Amino acid sequence: MFSSASNIEELLRGFRIEGAMLRYNDFVPRLYNYCRSLGFEPGKMLPSRAFCSDESQGFPSILISKHFGTFPFNHGRGGAIVATQRHGPFAEHGQDLVIIQASHVGYDPESGRFGTYRRIHAENAEHTSSCGKLAVVIRRYEQEYAFAQNNVVLERCEGALCVCIDNGLLRGNRTEGLFLNLPRLVERDADGEFTPRHAYSTSKSFPASASLRRQLMEFQLEEGQRIPIGTRLTPKMFFFRRDLDETPEGRDHQELGLVSAMPWVITAPHPLLTAAQINTQVEFDRAFRTAAQAPGFRGKRLLHISGLNIDISPQPGEAFPMTHFVPWAAYVQDRDGRQTILEQPDLLRVLEQQSPENPDEMDLESAIRAMSETAMVRVGLDASR
Ligand SMILES: [Zn+2]
Repeated sequence: MFSSASNIEELLRGFRIEGAMLRYNDFVPRLYNYCRSLGFEPGKMLPSRAFCSDESQGFPSILISKHFGTFPFNHGRGGAIVATQRHGPFAEHGQDLVIIQASHVGYDPESGRFGTYRRIHAENAEHTSSCGKLAVVIRRYEQEYAFAQNNVVLERCEGALCVCIDNGLLRGNRTEGLFLNLPRLVERDADGEFTPRHAYSTSKSFPASASLRRQLMEFQLEEGQRIPIGTRLTPKMFFFRRDLDETPEGRDHQELGLVSAMPWVITAPHPLLTAAQINTQVEFDRAFRTAAQAPGFRGKRLLHISGLNIDISPQPGEAFPMTHFVPWAAYVQDRDGRQTILEQPDLLRVLEQQSPENPDEMDLESAIRAMSETAMVRVGLDASR
């Protein structure tokens, strides 16, 4: 999906977070009313959710149940990947279909940090990573980046700014790891080659490229002084390669979608927020195509909406997180097969136009009470009846 660094930067810039959040209590009735405005029939709508398996995602599911009058079909796998092979059974279970797909990220209002969530049911109510699945995926990349930050060193030799690079990072025959984008860092010689000025025992020093010299204009080094590049190693200066299982929805599906954007994820102010954002974008771009092609959805009304769930840790005394939804994009298909994509500003607009009141909202407590008061059905094992 990403072909260049500028594509990734543009996509990230295009996903507005601030000023684009809706509380779930407000989002779901508006979504229901939007479905009504598209002609979806009350009592015949079936929602599905492609959420992470994290228990923090339960509250949105409860609100979806309340407003749509049914528990949502499970359309997701860990890390909020859409299980597209479930399109068929999902289509059989409802007349008018709604897919709600969202990656999630925790938020701690006390520290203002993203990527962390208070587990109130843990022994000491400690904070852990959220999304934990994404945290595991990005950890290895963060370690490789930390190594490169310390082992690409700026030095002044014979009056010129040089970049001294660890030999491990220069080995081009690796299949995995962090690779430096050498033309951004190192000046080519007259033959267009990257020729070291000095070869040390475990590293090589090259004259810095004109663009790096320009970026570090203010940066004064004494002759012989050496400083690790640190945060000056910016996303366009490196990339990652990884041997991943490329099977769609296979073992490495999520990592595969993130790997080309990983330099931006791990250098972002909130890496797990950026990772969740990209996961949502990559998954929508992939999954809406499978929905548009799925034979089961032909002749049916379908709304596939994607976004980001921001889980605000419950405070003492609260049972649920205060989850916010940031819409990203939606795909709408009518019974005649007309297809529309709504980009984020359009999607926000149509949701804001809807009423936050839902006259069809279900009273879950009385529905559950009614079930307990209904006479018990005798479940028989006699196949001849
Ligand atoms: Zn998760």
